Amino acid sequence: MPLQYQETPIQEICDGEIQRAGVRVIIKREDLNHALVSGNKWWKLKYNLEEAVQRNFKTILTFGGAYSNHILAIAVAAHELNLKSIGVIRGEETLPLNPILSFVKNQGMDLVYVSRSAYRSEKTSDKYAKKFGNPYCIPEGGSNLLAVRGVADFALTLNCHFDYICCAVGTGGTISGLIEGLSDEKKIIGFPVLKGAEFLKQDIYKLSAKSKHASNWELMCNYHFGGYAKTTSQLNAFIDDFRTMHNIPLEYIYTGKMMAGS
Ligand SMILES: *Cc1c(COP(=O)(O)O)cnc(C)c1O
Repeated sequence: MPLQYQETPIQEICDGEIQRAGVRVIIKREDLNHALVSGNKWWKLKYNLEEAVQRNFKTILTFGGAYSNHILAIAVAAHELNLKSIGVIRGEETLPLNPILSFVKNQGMDLVYVSRSAYRSEKTSDKYAKKFGNPYCIPEGGSNLLAVRGVADFALTLNCHFDYICCAVGTGGTISGLIEGLSDEKKIIGFPVLKGAEFLKQDIYKLSAKSKHASNWELMCNYHFGGYAKTTSQLNAFIDDFRTMHNIPLEYIYTGKMMAGS
């Protein structure tokens, strides 16, 4: 794999609530696997980057919102591999650029802005591929079959004992990879970070053929705390306490909601 990878530890945490529940909780610190393309983002890109390089693509194109970590991951990965990158961004350009967009621009990413209404339909068409000379295209959130294969590889690296595994769910690629990569005795619990996430099941069926028949996974749809990138004072307090108690940083978009739900 051309993108750098740092081995990551597992960390057991304990507090009164965990003790009372009579369970053990271990956290795989996959957030530490790369300085900028970290966690599941690294694994989701693994085979996509390999494919882009092997098939001699010079440019990677992808889609995302103005604060998207996925856009950031693609810009950094493309820069590291000497590929060009294009980010198709939802909404009008706002100046000065926010920290993420100004960072990706510095990494060499070209930004193309699309109105919110057009973005919806155009992000799944090949309009931009044609317009920009057929770059390697990665969907919004990076969830395609190669991403699922990458996360399934991650699942194989988990050689500690566990019965349940929890993850946050955005577009469903990560949980699909866990379903594909783990044996049927493991229970997989996903915490969608957006409101009304029941539709995600259909997306997961498309990404993981195994998921349709497997009964070892489920989605907990009541921990979105108001919706994507929304937070509450209760969630913020939970994240602060968690850092104080366990010295582990959570954020309010994904991991904070997943831990609060777990
Ligand atoms: C991006 C991200 C997700 C969302 O993954 P999907 O494959 O889109 O479901 C979940 N958790 C964390 C920590 C993330 O950074």
